[in-house]
Amino acid sequence: MSTPGTPLPPAPLPPGATIGILGGGQLGRMSALAAAKLGYRVHVFAPEADGPAMQVAAARTVAPYEDQAALARFAGAVDVVTFEFENVPAATLDVLAPLVPCRPGVEALRIGQDRVREKTFFAEAGLPVGAWRAVTSRAELDAAVAALGLPAVLKTTRLGYDGRGQAVLRAPEDLDPAWERLSPRPLILEAFVPFAREVSAIVARGADGATVTFDTTENRHSHHILALSIAPAPGPAARQQEAQRLVTRLAEALDLVGLLALELFELPDGTLLANEMAPRPHNSGHWTMDACLCGQFEMHVRAVAGLPLPDPSRHHDAVMTNIVGPDSFARWPAFAAQPSVSLHLYGKAEARPGRKLGHATRLLPLGSVAESPDPALLAPG
Ligand code: AMP
Repeated sequence: MSTPGTPLPPAPLPPGATIGILGGGQLGRMSALAAAKLGYRVHVFAPEADGPAMQVAAARTVAPYEDQAALARFAGAVDVVTFEFENVPAATLDVLAPLVPCRPGVEALRIGQDRVREKTFFAEAGLPVGAWRAVTSRAELDAAVAALGLPAVLKTTRLGYDGRGQAVLRAPEDLDPAWERLSPRPLILEAFVPFAREVSAIVARGADGATVTFDTTENRHSHHILALSIAPAPGPAARQQEAQRLVTRLAEALDLVGLLALELFELPDGTLLANEMAPRPHNSGHWTMDACLCGQFEMHVRAVAGLPLPDPSRHHDAVMTNIVGPDSFARWPAFAAQPSVSLHLYGKAEARPGRKLGHATRLLPLGSVAESPDPALLAPG
């Protein structure tokens, strides 16, 4: 019997229910495929008609995120709403939230959209962060550089991803051109972190507050775009667990239902600093689809649908290569021909440079990554 005032965990959505997804990209596509596995229908809402998620959706709304009438119709047609794209305007979720459950809620979206809010929230939640200052004027930039020193990284607080909207300041003469390029948008100056590597951790949190975390991943970038994820992140188990502990703490502080990814810098002494979060499935978790008992997309769908969260254990080590741009895409037959490699292509109409078009994951016996002098050499290719 429940105590008065104790909220009961919401009943799971039954098969045949409809999950609404805001955003039409590959994360929505892979979430929709995972939802179909559990017997759900997916209704995708996005401004573009032929995005990767639209191609596999049971129902589609092609409309701008600001279209109030389309949003109201969408809310009436779905049982729960989630998002696959963190730049969905928060105002869109504000319209939907009174009409239909939104998981995660608007607060996680709003915090993740703004680097200043994000860093402030990290610190309040007890996560370690590097030094930073908010910058809204040229005088504040000078003051921030005086406080943090050089090198430092100047970033737009909003709509920056894959290295867009940022500049590394190495010498005083770098300030003017960076300010010219990035202002008048609100900015943040971050002390340059001399990290040894970048890692990420992903947690799923259910409607009942239960959490499960995937193994921590080491991530390598090329031209600011994720190129390679290595799972598990090599190194002492205690470091892996610390990243998992931090992302779980963050999900609890956000009271989030769904999936949360946290990108971290690891310093040469093993200290971790939180860089940024994404309240959705994450590129660095794509390996989990093939190498875990339950992958990140199914875990996301289960959390959003109020289903129990199963064991996320890794049954293989994995190295994932992103397929970015036309040259990499042209090698798809080679990826498809490798027996221990799982190939995922996103159905994008145009193979433009810098665009994520697919990924390939090599599955390896457990322990292979730890034993390898350079696990990057195990990447599909
Ligand atoms: P972000 O958009 O914040 O993930 O930044 C993109 C990439 O730029 C990161 O993955 C890092 O490689 C690099 N970077 C960002 N912020 C810093 C920083 N404060 N210090 C050093 N490198 C950084």
